[in-house]
Parts: sequence; structure tokens; C-alpha cells
Amino acid sequence: MQVIQHSAERLRLALVSNRKDLIQHFQKYTREEKRLLEEGLYPDSTLFKPITLHLDSDWISSHPEPPQDFQQYYCNPYRNTPVKGRNTIYIQTVGLFGEGEAATLRYVGWLREYCEAFYYGLSVKLLEPVPVSATGCAFRINEYTHNLQINTGDLLSYLKKKKPKDAFCIVGITMIDLYPEDSWNFVFGQASLTKGMGIFSFARYDDNFYSRSYKGRLQKGRKVSPQDYSVFDGYYTPPITSTLLLRSCKTLTHEIGHIFGIQHCQWMQCVMQGSNHLEESDRRPLDLCPVCLRKLQTAMGFKIAERYKALLRWIEEGSNTGEAGTSSAKPTEAFEASRQWLMKCLSVLEDE
Ligand SMILES: [Zn+2]
Ligand SMILES: [Zn+2]
Repeated sequence: MQVIQHSAERLRLALVSNRKDLIQHFQKYTREEKRLLEEGLYPDSTLFKPITLHLDSDWISSHPEPPQDFQQYYCNPYRNTPVKGRNTIYIQTVGLFGEGEAATLRYVGWLREYCEAFYYGLSVKLLEPVPVSATGCAFRINEYTHNLQINTGDLLSYLKKKKPKDAFCIVGITMIDLYPEDSWNFVFGQASLTKGMGIFSFARYDDNFYSRSYKGRLQKGRKVSPQDYSVFDGYYTPPITSTLLLRSCKTLTHEIGHIFGIQHCQWMQCVMQGSNHLEESDRRPLDLCPVCLRKLQTAMGFKIAERYKALLRWIEEGSNTGEAGTSSAKPTEAFEASRQWLMKCLSVLEDE
């Protein structure tokens, strides 16, 4: 395992910059906010830890790309900032999540509330869920994994038509696997920064996806004909679990982060780290490192403590950890480490 430990000076430059106006801008944070943001500069920080590389297939090893510090983000003319009249994130669900429409609405309702806490200050709205047939997209059976896949280009064209005027962005989410082109095996998602839209699948976040007994496999030799969407009727959807919810929240907020213009993080452990495989995306934390937090805070203008409180409320409210769990309660067991982390951050922010 390799640890990417930047020096405190390098991290300070990434966080604060050496441009006079950006230093002044940093000085406007409260004393407590600065203390939290600067926590990550110290190698012994318990809140922000260095990135570790475990495999050659990890993102940073296999996709060398220049890192983006705060100043580079700030100066990027293509980054997106929500403005009045264009400050709503729309989520379009394609197909079902869990068993039936009620379960789907409940699940995407949790995702909506999570995004609203993460992108604190934006409103997040759900468009009415649609079946795959409504999008008119091409689809196929994957020749190796034998599961159904839908075409990202067609889905993006559909989203483009549905994007409301006041949208900061529109993101499509689905439990069905995706492919961008015939020659590709699959893709987790595809986004367009300039068009403010993206489509993402959580199909491969099912623990069983790569097993032979995966229930989304169709019979060998089965053919599908274009336009006959009946193959999607009753098609397998993964069981709703706490881990699936955690992975979905991470992916959705990571991808929307790209729409803001935040690039893959190479500074500290962070939800904006690139990930090449499931084990790596499970390894990254649920929230932002100080450098990426400053990027988002600058785009949005929230109070850092208010945002953390909203995230904490989302974990604690309506969850099944308190009272006897029911199937309709939000399964937040997998968020326990994040809950404790948020409380620690808040104690740094509130301690006089
Ligand atoms: Zn990414
Ligand atoms: Zn980061």
C-alpha cells in the first residue's frame, strides 16, 4: 500500500492559494471554519487522512491526471455556479428501485433529501419516475454478463428534452446497467459538464452483480428486439440495503460535484476521489476534503456547520437504527462512521 502524503505547505497552497485576493477570501471564514479547513494540513489529523493506493488498478495509478487545487477550480471559466432562477437539481428516475413504485419513490426520496443536505442551499426535486420505454432508448443484453443494458447517449438526449428551465442540472438514475456504445462492455455513468446533465447506474453496486447467481442475468441465447420494452417488465432490481444506499449517495454527489466543475481529488481522502472499481469507491469517504469543501462552499455560499448539521439530520431522522426498524425506515447502518465523523467536525466548528 502506498500513502500519498503531501507536505503541509503543498496542501496549504492547494487549499488557500498564494494569490492575494484568494488569501483574503480565505481569511473571511470564521476562526472555527478556518480551524476545520486547516485540520487537513496536519499529518496527524483524525478528520482528514492521506489518500492510500492499494492496487495498480486504483484510479490515480491508472489515470494520471493533473490535480486541481482551489485556485485552478476558482479560475476555471467553465465551472458551473448555481444562480437565482437556475438553482434546482432535478433527479429523473428511469425504471424501478426495489420492488414496485412505492419502494422506488421511497428510495429516491432518500436520495433527494441526501443531495439537498450535501448541496446545502440548492433545492433538489424529483421528476416523476418513468419506465425505460418512455425514454425510447436503445438496449441490449450484455454478451458476457447476460444482463440488460440501456444506452447512455439516448438517455442523455431524453434528459436534455426534459430539463426544466430553472435546472442547475438534471441527473438520471437507474438500477439498470448502462453502455455508451456497442463496442463498450459497460459504463457506470456519463455526464456533460457544459450541458449540466448526467446519467448514472447503480446496478453494479449490487453485492451480487458479478456472481454467477446474479438474478439480473437473462437466459443464454435469449434475444431482444428493439422497441419491445416488455423485457423490462418485472426485470430484476437489487434489494434495497444500507450499503446500496451509501453507495448511491456517494455516486450521486460525486457526479453532481463534477457538474460544478470539481475534478477528481488527489489531495486527501475525499468523495471526489476518482474510482476505478467498487472496492476503491467503497474506500473513499462520504464527504469532501477541505480543498473540495472550499470549492463547493465558494460556489454555494453556505455556512459549513449548517451543512454538516443537515447531513447529520439526514442520517438520524427516519432511520431504522433507533426504534424497531421497519421496512419503510431509512437503512442508515452503513452511515455510522460518517455520523461520528460529522459530529467530530461539528465539535471543531462549535468549540469556542
Ligand atoms: Zn468522477
Ligand atoms: Zn477533495
